[in-house]
Amino acid sequence: MAYILSVFAVRNLLVLSLALNVSLILRVLLLHDSQDGSFNGFFFAEQKEEALATKITRLSSSVAPSSSLTMAQGDEDRVINLDHGDPTMYESYWQKKGDETTVVIPGWQFMSYFSDATRLCWFLEPEFAKQIVRLHNVVGNAVTENRHIVVGTGSTQLFQAALYALSPCAEAEPISVVSAAPYYSSYPLITDCLKSRLYKWAGDARSFSKNGPYIELVTSPNNPDGFARRSVVNGSEGILIHDLAYYWPQYTPISSPANYDLMLFTVSKSTGHAGMRIGWALVKDEDVARKMTKYIEINTIGVSKDSQVRAAKVLKVISDNSEGPNEGDSFFEFSYRVMAKRWKQLREAVQQSGLFSVSDFPPQLCMFLNRVFEPQPAFAWIKCEGDIEDCESFLRGKKILTRGGKHFGVNPNYVRISMLDRDKNYETFVRRLSTIRS
Ligand code: PMP
Repeated sequence: MAYILSVFAVRNLLVLSLALNVSLILRVLLLHDSQDGSFNGFFFAEQKEEALATKITRLSSSVAPSSSLTMAQGDEDRVINLDHGDPTMYESYWQKKGDETTVVIPGWQFMSYFSDATRLCWFLEPEFAKQIVRLHNVVGNAVTENRHIVVGTGSTQLFQAALYALSPCAEAEPISVVSAAPYYSSYPLITDCLKSRLYKWAGDARSFSKNGPYIELVTSPNNPDGFARRSVVNGSEGILIHDLAYYWPQYTPISSPANYDLMLFTVSKSTGHAGMRIGWALVKDEDVARKMTKYIEINTIGVSKDSQVRAAKVLKVISDNSEGPNEGDSFFEFSYRVMAKRWKQLREAVQQSGLFSVSDFPPQLCMFLNRVFEPQPAFAWIKCEGDIEDCESFLRGKKILTRGGKHFGVNPNYVRISMLDRDKNYETFVRRLSTIRS
């Protein structure tokens, strides 16, 4: 009897010590995040709950051997995080390309702050500039003639540089910054982050009626809903920024080269290399380009040369493969096919469930791929039908993490779902969505 009791006590102690260790690790992880201003904390403090759910999943997969994880927690129970538009879907393509895009940089190279001191944008690597122009010419999605190129640490930095460059500095009041709802959820956060006296977020462009100058952000195709857009404010003193992060053939038919005064692009959504943190602006007006360059000089004294060199290589490989004999294996063919498959799966799942709806898009001819197709956006903008008022909470209850309508300036019965996650996550998501009844 004494033996049985002592074995029992030892086992209890072991279980108790395991539980204490797990909770200690969890607390350390959470504390770490709140201190370093991580992605979750930085963008959406109110999404701590989701972060916790993700951490628990991550933690369980790091402490448990994978076989026991499969037994204890099946794929159908896993938390699927489709909140961020992290473009990990592209990894498999670049993996298959092997060393084609590998870049080796000797320790003594790219040590200077300068790339070409004679250029307006003196920190822009000449080879990167060359490959930007070439890719736009190959794809036919933007006019590059008579444009200045400004490179940025992601198009996020270029957006801020554009606000700085376009704001009149002699005005008593900050200039209003607007975008038609649903708008990209980061615009209001970035615009008002430093409470600037130059510019101020003024919300939905459709209800904006103030006289005088304003800046309108036109995102086309739009994040979150995927529709092609034009400016909507009817004022005479509007200054436009065109955010064309998704104007690439895997997402939408390329009907003609975009030809606007200030256009923003990024490798994050075109090639999938969000981690490089590289974007570029095509700017018509020399003074605006100069001021944007000045902003980046003050902000970060230029942009990583290593990243620009790597980005140049990736763009070159895409252009080479789009034009050469391996056209069928080109990056845009691959990404177009993946997106087409995913949108088909999504529409089937939505139909099977009966609880959700997604928009249809009119088909158009793509001059680059030379075929007619419907847009297949990087995000699905899903509406919960019936009496579900808060779609984000509803799906969280099904362990699917999304970003709700309120972040985009509209009703909470909409959510945005990333279509760019890895195959395994996406497949689990559509399977789960199709089985949701109420
Ligand atoms: N604009 C839009 C419309 C976006 O969706 C994103 C990425 N989510 C960005 C800009 C930011 O891109 P980057 O990673 O280059 O900063």
